[in-house]
Amino acid sequence: MKKISVLLATNAPKAYDYSIPESLNLEIGAIVRVPFRNRELMGIAWEESTERFDESKLKEIIQNYPPYRLSNQTIDFIKFFSRYNFVTLGRALKLFIPQDYLVEKKKSIKTYKLDHNSIEAIKKTSARSKVIDLMRDGEIFLSASEISKETNVAYSVVKKLIENGILIEGEYVSQKIFKKKLYKGKLDLNSDQFSAAQKIITSIKDKKFERFLIDGVTGSGKTEVYFEAIEETLRLDRQSLVLLPEISLTEGLFERIKIRFGIEPVMWHSDLTKSKRREIWQDVFRGESKLVIGARSSLFLPFKDLGIIVIDEEHDHSYKQQEGVIYHARDMAISLGSYEKVPVVMVSATPSLETVLNVREDKYKKLHLPDRIGEAKLPAVHSIDMRDEAYIKNQWISERLKTEIKETLDREEQVLIFLNRRGYAPLTLCKKCGYRVECPKCDSYLVEHRFNPKLICHQCGFSLKISQSCPDCHTKDSLIACGPGIERITEEVINTFKGANIATLSSDNGKDAHQILKDMASGLIDILIGTQIISKGHHFPRLTCVGVIDADLGMANGDLRAAEKTYQLLHQVSGRTGREKLPGKSFLQTYFPSHPVIRSLVTSEREGFHEAELNIRKKGNLPPYGKLAAIILSDTDSSKLIKFCNKVKAAIPGSDSIIVLGPAPAPITKARGRFRYRFLLKADKKTNLQKYIDFWIKNIRKPSSIKLTIDIDPYYFL
Ligand code: ADP
Ligand code: ZN
Repeated sequence: MKKISVLLATNAPKAYDYSIPESLNLEIGAIVRVPFRNRELMGIAWEESTERFDESKLKEIIQNYPPYRLSNQTIDFIKFFSRYNFVTLGRALKLFIPQDYLVEKKKSIKTYKLDHNSIEAIKKTSARSKVIDLMRDGEIFLSASEISKETNVAYSVVKKLIENGILIEGEYVSQKIFKKKLYKGKLDLNSDQFSAAQKIITSIKDKKFERFLIDGVTGSGKTEVYFEAIEETLRLDRQSLVLLPEISLTEGLFERIKIRFGIEPVMWHSDLTKSKRREIWQDVFRGESKLVIGARSSLFLPFKDLGIIVIDEEHDHSYKQQEGVIYHARDMAISLGSYEKVPVVMVSATPSLETVLNVREDKYKKLHLPDRIGEAKLPAVHSIDMRDEAYIKNQWISERLKTEIKETLDREEQVLIFLNRRGYAPLTLCKKCGYRVECPKCDSYLVEHRFNPKLICHQCGFSLKISQSCPDCHTKDSLIACGPGIERITEEVINTFKGANIATLSSDNGKDAHQILKDMASGLIDILIGTQIISKGHHFPRLTCVGVIDADLGMANGDLRAAEKTYQLLHQVSGRTGREKLPGKSFLQTYFPSHPVIRSLVTSEREGFHEAELNIRKKGNLPPYGKLAAIILSDTDSSKLIKFCNKVKAAIPGSDSIIVLGPAPAPITKARGRFRYRFLLKADKKTNLQKYIDFWIKNIRKPSSIKLTIDIDPYYFL
């Protein structure tokens, strides 16, 4: 073999032939660097060359990086990923391999193990015995300082043992599996937890692709169940991947894992430095990193021997990547599991309807944990009918909720007030001319922020200084703030509950967010007001009262999942309370107390909600019954865009099973200065929408200024 086809990690739709220098020994999947135009690019040896080009005319591969290569399973996964998500192979590959030279990492830390043969030769002091006891298991490799820390023995004692040859240098391992400690933080599982864990463990041992849903209310011990399965995976010396929807949640899990297993999991997310990324990538490839927790992109790591995939909070919409390469990480994780032949464990208290249907159709196995652990009870959820409440100008907290808050504070317990809207007021209006302050680049209103005074566009980030007069009619002092954001609620809380410790938390907080969450957990804060970032994952033992200012907020938009999303969000928020001995209550302020979402939250009848919502979806042949895809076209020039849309429309291929709607202006017609139009495709589940779209748009010549985005299974309809 003198030449080979190389797939480049760029937009390229296909592989190109390169000649192989005599000195290189290349396998399919090997990572290589090649010249391309006047650059050098990374790629992989993709397949045997089939072209009849003369090798002498081909450019030469510059180098490979043994032992680094992608496995056959990964290559199959890349092919599927590219086909399914409608991205070129090269663009998909780019997600999987490092973009710069794969230099070898430095092995800087020396680790040691016990030399059993020389133990007899030394006098046993109590300090030395401690070290020997720790290290007796031949599989333990630790650095000198770790040994000293673990045993509480002076560093000098450890050094002496090294000098005497009792501790000898071992191999470098990045994630030391401390086998003795796997049980360190282990809890006695209850019988529901135990039988759930056993089912997953059987599947791990059989190396079987099986899909599980651990379904149980918040605090029912779901995490402990998958910990048990991970323990088994570690014992088999295989790798575990735990996916989380957001980086902010990894912190808490990191700490728990450290306590439970005595090892630090590897955290993978987009904020890592280049060299850290490269180091982790290499460790995962060598199989040295045994337990990885991370956001979406950890799916693309080169696992050597994967044993289990866990998708925590599987229903979370953050799993859908909206920018760049569009894909749904939950769905891709399931497909990865099928290529790797490992169990995929989904975890949620409010599973997505997709997953609910898959359980009903017996595709996924449900592992049910019906009760909260210990004495904790689920919170009592009440609705507050805002139609019955007196309307008081500039007040959003009902009298009923205020009374509950006051009683909670009197008991020295904590309160959480939730409103999913950042800033002070969502709309600024001129009372003279009626002008609404809009973003010049998007079709949305600017949101007033007062903590950091500015008018900000929540679509694109554009901001303006707050002005004294109307930008349109120039009347002075005529602008009024309409409606509440959390900053305005904070103002009301400060005025109402004098002397209470109050904090506000949203994505605007930045660095101090961590401190606020800590203070809330330790009880320093009496009332926390926040957006959805406080809805998940956090555990505040003394929180017993949750108030939702506008429970109807998420239901207004035309999203097909609006009701489902609202249900999940409000359930999560309510679930922050009563997690230990103190009983919790949650109050939903609403104008539609009879809405199925509100009703099922109040009666805690989840199945009824699923039933009703599934029926609606079935009637409309919408997901999870039918399939959707969206094509979004945008340009700065609207007439050019409309002309092109008509051309695309004229080319719609006929089909019995696919309905194409549009082109219609997107609900946010203008964003970041670009006009946007959408096509929506609806089809039965079995239809191959990707093939249809390919056939449709393949031959349409697109002006270069127009951006065309294909979104398979859209979750975002604006
Ligand atoms: P979930 O993931 O369902 O929210 P967790 O696994 O986080 O639930 O468990 C909730 C709390 O109960 C945690 O503090 C956990 O340590 C504790 N817990 C879980 N299982 C047990 C058990 N079998 N015995 C004692 N405590 C448990
Ligand atoms: Zn904007």
